[in-house]
Amino acid sequence: MAEFSLALNDDQIQLRDWVHEFAKDVIRPAAEEWDEREEFPWPIVEEAAKIGLYGMDFMANAMLADATGLTLPVAIEEMFWGDAGIGLSIMGSGLAAAGIAGNGTPEQLMEWVPQCYGTADDVKLGAFCVSEPDAGSDVSSLRTRAVYDEAKDEWTLNGTKAWITNGGIANVHVVVAAVDPELRGRGQASFIVPPNTPGLSMGQKYKKHGIRASHTSEVVLDDVKVPGSCLLGGKEKLDEKLARAREALTKPQVESSGKQPAMATFEATRPAVGAQAIGVARAAYEYALEYAGERQAFGKPIIMNQAIAFMLADMITEIDAARLLVHRAAWLSRNGTYVNAEGSMSKLKAGRVAVWVTERAIQILGGYGYTREYPVERMHRDAKIFDIFEGTEQIQQLVIGRAISGRRIE
Ligand SMILES: Cc1cc2nc3c(=O)[nH]c(=O)nc-3n(C[C@H](O)[C@H](O)[C@H](O)COP(=O)(O)OP(=O)(O)OC[C@H]3O[C@@H](n4cnc5c(N)ncnc54)[C@H](O)[C@@H]3O)c2cc1C
Repeated sequence: MAEFSLALNDDQIQLRDWVHEFAKDVIRPAAEEWDEREEFPWPIVEEAAKIGLYGMDFMANAMLADATGLTLPVAIEEMFWGDAGIGLSIMGSGLAAAGIAGNGTPEQLMEWVPQCYGTADDVKLGAFCVSEPDAGSDVSSLRTRAVYDEAKDEWTLNGTKAWITNGGIANVHVVVAAVDPELRGRGQASFIVPPNTPGLSMGQKYKKHGIRASHTSEVVLDDVKVPGSCLLGGKEKLDEKLARAREALTKPQVESSGKQPAMATFEATRPAVGAQAIGVARAAYEYALEYAGERQAFGKPIIMNQAIAFMLADMITEIDAARLLVHRAAWLSRNGTYVNAEGSMSKLKAGRVAVWVTERAIQILGGYGYTREYPVERMHRDAKIFDIFEGTEQIQQLVIGRAISGRRIE
């Protein structure tokens, strides 16, 4: 186990600076255009793939070859400092990859994760499909059904997924579905829907408040047939899990099965989402700091007023506090001592900080901050997503409340 330290090593510093350069030279100059277009920024993601920033190797190196867990959040913060919508377009496939890594066998991981990314010359995407029109926070109520035909060793999926990042434009869709609805969250499983599978289509594409470069849409599953090998983790493991869950229903003293597949993925990815929020907050803070040093009012730069300087002091203090929580959670996650609430704490804090800091940045820029001519307006719209996806603010509080009390707070 690595010594607990939040100091970055030479490799991490080099990686951070490399991602920062790309964010400064490529992502940031493109941010306004793709926000206005509300389209997936293919040319930017392709450029990221060419330099090795988008792809399986980048994710594998950042996650596996790092005993500290800090490499990924450090890289993500820089990317989202560039722009959140484009940052999510680069990182979105990582959620599908995490869903496969968290629930699949090593063979499934080797087969499907590369297909979530494609190659530098032929970029592909992955999508992780959990949420539904009537089941967002309440993941245990999924209506998408998976029915098994033993004779054909084939699953049939039916349902509609909502709010899916890269939904319908991805090569690989990882779909969480109910196998035994009576067991609710314990009766679910994850499936790979391979490229070009008949019956999977894109539903409505959402018009969003922020992160507008990132593609978000419904995914419709209409009699989608996938072979038995597409069940992540395999049938034997699923049958054992279902048997334990059924026994637990009748005998409450029996320990139920493992975690819900979607939850296992989100737990692992929360510090990364916290890092995204910090990137946006830092970008807005830096912009406001520079502006406050230049903008003159009453014959002096506005930063010469304590009201402005103290606001900036609070902003950087909050950003640093949130980053420390994110890095702690990332370190604990990597070193196996993660008890979940740390990940939720980091995401809860970082999301709130991003919303608050970006709002303060608008305040510091005054009327200019409220216009689309200045980027803090976009950053504020972007920041709100961190209070919502991968577990809302209230769901993080619920997870933390349960962890600290040992009780099933509702
Ligand atoms: C841009 C974007 C991208 C997304 N990408 C993906 C993706 O790639 N894959 C995917 O599967 N999903 C994705 N989502 C879905 C996202 O995870 C859900 O929107 C989120 O989990 C909230 O679910 P909901 O929208 O149904 O809200 P609800 O669950 O309906 O919540 C509404 C409100 O009620 C509160 N609430 C709900 N239950 C409780 C409770 N028990 N206690 C207290 N308060 C509660 C919530 O905090 C919230 O304030 C995305 C969403 C967005 C907006």
